[in-house]
Amino acid sequence: MEKPVAFVTSLDRETESRWLTRIGKLLPTENLLPFREMNTLERKAADIAVVANPDPVDVRSLSGLVWIHSLWAGVERLVAVLGPSAPPIVRLVDPELARAMAEAVLAWTHYLQRDMPAYRRQQSKRLWRQQPYRHPSTVTVGVLGLGTLGTVAAQRLVGAGFAVTGWSRSPKFMDSVVCLHGEDGLNELLRIADITVCLLPLTSDTKDLLHAGRLTRMRAGASLINFARGPVVVTEDLVRALDAGQLSHAVLDVFEHEPLSGDSPLWDHPSITVLPHISAPTDMESAARIIAQNIGAYRSTGLLPRTIDVESGY
Ligand code: NAP
Repeated sequence: MEKPVAFVTSLDRETESRWLTRIGKLLPTENLLPFREMNTLERKAADIAVVANPDPVDVRSLSGLVWIHSLWAGVERLVAVLGPSAPPIVRLVDPELARAMAEAVLAWTHYLQRDMPAYRRQQSKRLWRQQPYRHPSTVTVGVLGLGTLGTVAAQRLVGAGFAVTGWSRSPKFMDSVVCLHGEDGLNELLRIADITVCLLPLTSDTKDLLHAGRLTRMRAGASLINFARGPVVVTEDLVRALDAGQLSHAVLDVFEHEPLSGDSPLWDHPSITVLPHISAPTDMESAARIIAQNIGAYRSTGLLPRTIDVESGY
C-alpha cells in the first residue's frame, strides 16, 4: 500500500477541508487523508502526519510515523503533549509569516515611539498637549529571539532607523544589530532598550523569563511588546511594574490562556494594549506551499526537512 499522509487536527471541518484542498492540489500524487476517515490499515501505513493541535492519542495511534509536520510555527504545545519519544517534528518556517511578524513589530514599535498610548489618554481627557518627538535613531529596540521571526523583525527595525539590539541563545552576527547572548547579554539589553520586543519560543528556559527581577532591570519608562507566547512574561509582575510606573506600556498579543477571559483585568488596564493573537497569522497559501515542498522533497530524497530539537524545546 502506498504510504498515506495523515492530517490530524482539531480544526473545524470547514477550515480543515480548505487546508486539505490547498495542500492536496500541490501534491496530486499523495494520498492525503483526514485522520478520522482513515481505516486501520491506512493508519498503520501513514509515514507522515500534518498536524494542528492534534489529539496526542490520534498521533500515537499512527504506528508507522517517520515524521510530523506542524501547521504552526510555535510547537511548544505539540512537544509537551507528544513527549520526548515522538517522531521528529518539523515546524512551519515561512518567509510570509516572518514578513507579517516584522510588519507587526514595526507597526507597534512606531505606536510606542510616536506616543500613541499617551495621545489616546489625552484625547479621553480632551487634552491638547504635544509630546516631544523622538527620532527612531534615539530609540533603542531590544529584540529577544533572533530566529526566523526575530531576524527579519530586527532588520525591518534597522531599516526604519531604530537602534536595534538583539538577544539569542547562541552568539550571532548581524549587520547593524548589536547581538548579545547569555545572562549578561539579557541584562544589558533590558538596561538599554526603550522598547523590548519578545519573539522567543516558549521552552522550559524561557517560561517566566521576564519576571519581577528582570522587569525592574528595564530602564525607567520602557515598554514591552510580547508577540511570542504569554508564559514568557509573568503577567502579575508586569502589571505591578506598569502600576508602579517602572514601565510605561505593554502591547500583548499572546496570553497564558487564550482567548483572554472576559473578566481579565488586562482588558481595562490603561497601560496595556490587548491584541487577540493577530501579530502573524498563518497564511494558508504560502504555508500549504511550504508543507507540500517539504513532503515532496522527502519523497524524492528520503531526507527529512530541518526538525526541531526536542531537548531545547524549539
Ligand atoms: P526560532 O526560529 O526557533 O527562533 C527562536 C530564537 O529564540 C532563536 O534566536 C533562539 O536562539 C532564541 N532562543 C530560544 N531559547 C532561548 C533562550 N533560552 N535564551 C535566549 N535565546 C533563546 O523561532 P521563530 O520562528 O523566530 O518563532 C519564535 C516564536 O514566535 C515561536 O516559537 C512562537 O511561539 C511565536 N510566534 C507567535 C506568533 C503570533 O502570531 N503571535 C506567530 C508565529 C510565531 P538561537 O538562535 O541561539 O537558537
